[in-house]
Amino acid sequence: MAKINVKVEHRNFRDFAPIFNNILGGKKMVKISENKIWRIVARINDEVIVKQAGNIEKATRSARNAVCQRLCDSAGIEYELGWWKGYRHKGRRDFVDNFIGTPLYVQHDDELEIELHEVPYEVYTIQQVRLTFRRMSLMSPDNIDAWGFLHWGPGQDEKVQLLGQNIPIPQHLSSSKGFEEEEIIAISDAQQCLDECPKCKSEFPFGTLILVTGNFRLIPANCCSQMIWLKEEDSEENEDWA
Ligand SMILES: [Zn+2]
Repeated sequence: MAKINVKVEHRNFRDFAPIFNNILGGKKMVKISENKIWRIVARINDEVIVKQAGNIEKATRSARNAVCQRLCDSAGIEYELGWWKGYRHKGRRDFVDNFIGTPLYVQHDDELEIELHEVPYEVYTIQQVRLTFRRMSLMSPDNIDAWGFLHWGPGQDEKVQLLGQNIPIPQHLSSSKGFEEEEIIAISDAQQCLDECPKCKSEFPFGTLILVTGNFRLIPANCCSQMIWLKEEDSEENEDWA
């Protein structure tokens, strides 16, 4: 008996569905939802940026691009198309997202209410922008001095101490396929730790460093102009390593 009841109810519902739709004005409802859009508000350098689109991905992308463009302009670096793509650039996306408020699904003609978007007042430094967008291309032996400063320009203040900074781990070395960063927890003298450069087998020039993270060693080797990555286990035998 129970089985039959279920069947009957099911059929009944289907029979009535078109009627319900008519009663609720199905067509009208569709029209209203077509008028809705995702609205995203960002704030940077006291400028409010509003982006809206039919889907949230598109609105997010335009808002991020707009913020990124302004960041690059302020820091005097070139805006790069596709700057946000890939797991490796998660750090860039996260940085840019600090300037962006909560996306809201609103009517096309709804008035802009910035408070509802909870747009942050984010402050930043040129140094942060340069490190976020150019860190990996800057990370070359030429730009790293004997005191562990990474230089992004010729000026005395155009540099940052690498000790304590996070650096992205190259994908072929990281254990997970995801994005990995490790903090530089120590800086050692390469001449004291190794007899020769593992790449070119010559002696390290004076002042060559080893940047030490939890699982890796990175040598900005001036002898062969290479950034040499070593995994922790490669160096376990050597007790001089920090
Ligand atoms: Zn070398």
